[in-house]
Amino acid sequence: MPGAPRVGVLAYQGDVREHLAALAAVGAEPVEVRTLAELDGVDGLVVPGGESTVIGKLADRYGLLEPLRERARAGLPVFGTCAGMIFLAREVEGPPQDLLGVLDVRVRRNAFGRQVASFEAEVDVKGVDGGPVSGAFIRAPWVADAGPEVEVLAEIDGKVVAVRQGNLLATAFHPELTGEVRLHRWLLEMVAERGRA
Ligand code: GLN
Repeated sequence: MPGAPRVGVLAYQGDVREHLAALAAVGAEPVEVRTLAELDGVDGLVVPGGESTVIGKLADRYGLLEPLRERARAGLPVFGTCAGMIFLAREVEGPPQDLLGVLDVRVRRNAFGRQVASFEAEVDVKGVDGGPVSGAFIRAPWVADAGPEVEVLAEIDGKVVAVRQGNLLATAFHPELTGEVRLHRWLLEMVAERGRA
């Protein structure tokens, strides 16, 4: 029997600890990822919330932009929250920044307003059973445009806040700050499915 799946959290900046805890809570072996060797040791990856420009710059400095792109394109299950969703995107509105460009969406950063406009909301997420997901929106983006491969999983006030594209899952909100673990469990299921394929 193989052990618990090793799931990484891209650990340059942001709320890394909360994701490590959520992953442990669903039975994964959580691993901090900053280097190529660490990336190669994981079966799935979380890109946390934080500041997407900083995450992008550090990924570039560590030489991880291209390896991350390659692995995401090759099917590595990845879950991005907030800044993580931005980092996965093909395009942001406004000034250019380092992005992976693997998720076929255009995002609007800080779309719900500034820090003072942060809020918590109960979000119905397609594919997540057991009632709405409680999510923290902190200077959160929304998806302004999505390509044909992208499945919209959730909207609030008509704004797209959760999507899936194959092995990529992304939310504009933080589930990990509210004790919510169902999306991390979903990531783990994607890892298990890939292992069976
Ligand atoms: N506003 C941040 C950004 O653009 C994201 C905020 C967050 O991750 N909570 O990167």
